[in-house]
Parts: sequence; structure tokens; C-alpha cells
Amino acid sequence: MKPNIKKLFQKTLNIESIYPESKEIPSQNDLSRAHLEEFKRQSSNIVIFPVEAKDNIAENYSQYLAKTLTHLSQIKDINFEYALEDGKIKEGVPNLSFDKKILLLDLDETLIHADFDEEFSKDEYDKIIKFKAKNEVEDEKREKNIEDSDSTSCCLSEAEDDDIHTVGIFVRNGVKDFLEEVNKYFEVGIFTASVKEYADAVISFLDPENKLIKFRLYRNNCINFNDWFTVKDLRIFNNVDLKKIVLLDNSMYSFASQINNGILINTFINDKSDNELYNALEYLIKYIYPAEDIRDVNERFFSFQQIMNDIIKCK
Ligand SMILES: [Mg+2]
Repeated sequence: MKPNIKKLFQKTLNIESIYPESKEIPSQNDLSRAHLEEFKRQSSNIVIFPVEAKDNIAENYSQYLAKTLTHLSQIKDINFEYALEDGKIKEGVPNLSFDKKILLLDLDETLIHADFDEEFSKDEYDKIIKFKAKNEVEDEKREKNIEDSDSTSCCLSEAEDDDIHTVGIFVRNGVKDFLEEVNKYFEVGIFTASVKEYADAVISFLDPENKLIKFRLYRNNCINFNDWFTVKDLRIFNNVDLKKIVLLDNSMYSFASQINNGILINTFINDKSDNELYNALEYLIKYIYPAEDIRDVNERFFSFQQIMNDIIKCK
């Protein structure tokens, strides 16, 4: 006797009990919306007062790490993949298909420092950048906790036209050498939590011939964690194996969802004697470039996961 295939499968998979006829299968859109709401609900239940990235200086490395990893241990169960279902985060993300490993570079306080709060005089800057943007500069300032107490505090940036802003920047020692050198080994892109207009102006200055930076990701590509901080989730690149992608950043929070893909560099403001990019370069070429899985190498050197596990155990 011929078996009734449909009945057989229904029995095996118990299909009817998963999707009873009366109940509709949720569409992908409904599912994404539900996931996003769940991400927001979970993150809104967590209160974190993030450590400012300016505290990530060499003398403060252990304290910075302990505090930020304590925060990240609080959010270890948050499903960041849910946040990626917000289509906006994936807007403009390139489809990467490189043979080489991918090196993502943060911009602010990693490669340059932009003096939005005008702590320094104009003649100290390495370069003054102009860019056109509406309202976004205000966001930029808010994000950097700069208060406009009166009109005199408001920069450089209102000099010409409401939409044209200027800001003085300091360039980290060795940036040009660094970019040229890493390009021999990696596919290099910028992943910044800053707005596009400002970031593009800085990148055009750093890479005027458009040869060193292969792609750019901006604030809209980051996950905003309940307005506490931004996370750069590397799963936005659908077709890239996480074992071959690394992010150099001065904020530990950027690595929240893939802690071992991150290389933490000290925050740069305007220290002319800073040599951190040369140190990073050596690490990248010597250890990351030949690695089978960059996450294993990072963990061996920095033990971020191990420290976080220890923090969780001690609670
Ligand atoms: Mg930064």
C-alpha cells in the first residue's frame, strides 16, 4: 500500500500543531517588527552610565576595561540580531566579497580628533574641515555632551551659512603610513558612529585620491543601544565570515555584540607623541593577517571574553 506522503510528513513534523489552519503564519515584516520591539523592550530595561571614551587612555587601561566589560556583561543576553532587522541599519552596506581579511577602522579618536567643543585654538589644528549638513551637527554635539550655554560657545561652525559647518581636527600620528601599509594586507573600510556628511569630509581629507578606504559605514549603520552608546554589529555584512573581519576602535561598546572581533586602541585627542597606530599596525600584520580565525588571536592577546566571564562569575 502506498503511504500517504502528506499525512506522513504532517505526522512527522506535526505541521498542523505549529501552524493550525485558523492561525496565520506571521509575515517576515511582522516578525521583524516584533523582534525590533523585543530588542527595544530588553534594552530599555537596562540602565548603564557608559564610561566616556576619553577615559580610555593608556594609564587607565585596566579600569576602563573593567568598567566597560562590566557593562557589557549586563547586556550579554540581549539579542542584537533583532536590532539588525531594522532595515535602516543595513542601508548602504556594501556586499563584500574580498579574498583578503577585512579591517574596519573607527574614525573619531581612533584616526583623528575633531574639536567640536573648541577646546583648542584655531592655529593648533592640523586641518580645518568643512562640511554641509543640517541639524546633524547639533546631534553630533549632543552626542559628545557639548552644551551650547550661549551663542559664543557655538563654534567655528556657524561662520558662513547655516548648512556649512567647519571643525578643526587633529590627525593621529602615522595615519597616512598606517592606511597605506594596512592596504597591502587587508581590505580597509571606515565604520564610524558619526554622521555621513562630516565623516565623508574627514575621509576625503585622509584619502584624497579615494584609494585607501574601500567602503564607508556611518551612524545609521550602527545599533543605538537605548541612547547609552552605539554598537557596530559586524553581522550587517551578510556574506562575511566573522573569523576574517576585525574592527579597530577606541570604544569598547562598539564591540558589544562581537567582543572578540574588536581591537581596542587608546583614545586620541591631540597627543603628538602618540604611537598607537604603529603598535596597532605591528599587531595587525604580525598576528591578525596570518590568523585562521582573528577572534581566537584577539582573545589570546586581550582576553576580553575571559575577563567578562570572570566578571559574570564574581557577581
Ligand atoms: Mg571613536
